[in-house]
Formats: sequence, C-alpha cells, structure tokens
Amino acid sequence: MFGLKDDWSYDMPERYFTLEDYEGGVARWCPGCGDLAVLTAVQKILRDAQQVPENTVCVSGIGCSSRFPHYMKTYGFHGLHGRPLPVACGVKSRRPELDVWVATGDGDCCSIGAGHWLHAIRYNMDMVVMLFDNNVYGLTKKQTSPTSPLGLKTNTHPQGAWLPPLDPLVAMLGFTNSSFVAQTVDWNPAHLQATLHAAWQHKGLGFVRILQRCPTYTDSVFEELQKDPSRLLLLTGAKQPALAAGVARIFVNQRDHDSLDLGAARSIASSAHERVPIGVLFQDESRPRYEDFTTVGLGMTPEQKLAALERELDRFAV
Ligand code: SF4
Ligand code: MG
Repeated sequence: MFGLKDDWSYDMPERYFTLEDYEGGVARWCPGCGDLAVLTAVQKILRDAQQVPENTVCVSGIGCSSRFPHYMKTYGFHGLHGRPLPVACGVKSRRPELDVWVATGDGDCCSIGAGHWLHAIRYNMDMVVMLFDNNVYGLTKKQTSPTSPLGLKTNTHPQGAWLPPLDPLVAMLGFTNSSFVAQTVDWNPAHLQATLHAAWQHKGLGFVRILQRCPTYTDSVFEELQKDPSRLLLLTGAKQPALAAGVARIFVNQRDHDSLDLGAARSIASSAHERVPIGVLFQDESRPRYEDFTTVGLGMTPEQKLAALERELDRFAV
C-alpha cells in the first residue's frame, strides 16, 4: 500500500565493533610519544576489518612500547624482557586461529631478545612483529640501545655512543627464512597504517620496523627525517602499501621496488645512510611456516593421542 515495503528490517551484523571496542586503559606514554600513533593504527586496522577482539592477542616484552597490550581491549601478555617472541610463538603453536600482534622495542628485541628474534624469524609463524625503534632504552631512562646512533649522549655513554648501531633491516634481510621486512615512520599515519596492514595480511611473520619518536630522550634523532621528507625513500610498486596520491606526493624521492627481489632489498637497506627507505623491502609468502608443523594433530582426542604414543613406544620394545 502506497508503495511502501512491508518489511523494513535490514541485515545487521550480529556484532559491530567501533574503535572503543579495541581501546584498553588510557595510554600512559609521554605526550607526543610515537607509540600513541602505532596504537591508533592497530586499532583502526582491527576496526576496519571487524576483527573479533577476543580472537586477538597482543604480546610484548619490557619497555615503554611493551605497555601496548594494556591499552588494547583484546587478550594480552606483558612478558619478560626480550621474550615476547617465544611467548607469541607458543600462542601460535597451539592456537593458530588467533591473530597475534607483538610489540617490542629496540632494546627488548635487538639486545637481550636477539637470540629469540633470530629464531622466531626462522620459525616464520603467522603474526605481526612491530619493532618500536626509538634508538634508546626509554623506560629505564636513556641508556644506549643497540640502535642508538654513533655519538648519541646517553646515561651509559655520556660522551656519546661508542659503537656503530645495529641495523634491524640489514639483520632481518640476512636471517634465514625471513618472509616480510618493512619499515615505516610513526609520524605519517597513512603510511604507518598501510604498512602494518600489509604485514597483517602477509601469511607468515610480518616484521615492521617503526621509526618511533621519543620526545623525552631522543628528541633529535628523527627530527631531520620528520621535517624533510626528501630524506626518505618511498618504495612504490604493485605490492607496496597503498597510499592516497595526496600522501605519496609529499615524498619527492620514490623508487619502484619489487619486494620479491632480496638482492635489491639488501642494497636498499644498506644505503639507508643516503635515503631512509619506507615500505615493504622484502616479501615472500612461499617460505615455510612452523605452525604448519606444530599444529599437526591438534584436534586429536585423548584416546588417539594415547594410541599414537603407544605406537611410538612399541618401536623401541626389545
Ligand atoms: Fe615514549 Fe620516550 Fe616517553 Fe617512553 S620515554 S613513553 S618512548 S616518549
Ligand atoms: Mg627503545
């Protein structure tokens, strides 16, 4: 009658998530800390994908950025110094369906956690690893970290950092079975979110080094990069994070890069003193993932497990 529909109902998802559904407690990072931008980017990625919060796990070690799980309304594990990766691998081993995000800092990952770092990369389990690299130990009040630039004055090196810094990208591109290596900056939210999203979509371990501002202790280290985008090299190409034309335009230096080309990725990473690359340096989804091995037999009943165990033990009967 009068051309009106009889049924005005329309399809509504059973649950619809807003940003608030991913927001944990009020973040207690310093004003202007780059960690805040990363937190927002991850929450937006999950909201846009309508990722179920209880299917998400955030794992961290120790450091300023390792407070990350507290600020997400998901499952979380705030672990031991340098140990987020073994915990994350453990979660993925037994609950492969969960979405795992790791927050680790340059001290946490590249120093005390370096042994775990190298092996977790080789395991290549499906997760996102975010390296919050502010070039310093922030939580413990300004000590030299493995990525501190030469000459940076800190409480452990008041005359200036003495050794050349470790380059996490160069290291990653040398580790066995690396499958995704990217770099981004916290002060460009579009590139940050697009890069993390690409890592999240990658099948395997998506490693993203985030150049992260620490206005409290390393105010000057990224200042020049931030003020002068020509110091950055935007990687472009079909497999690079999609950026709006207006965002891409601010990067006067761009380079078309095939992220399957490991040799080219290594060459770009080694030339970072000339221009700091941002984008996906390397990606290869064909590399083996350890959860394909660890999850074999996960659905077995206790009886089936016992029978399998007895079969194995019978092999050693004398
Ligand atoms: Fe962020 Fe630095 Fe403050 Fe830590 S000390 S919360 S890294 S600004
Ligand atoms: Mg740090």
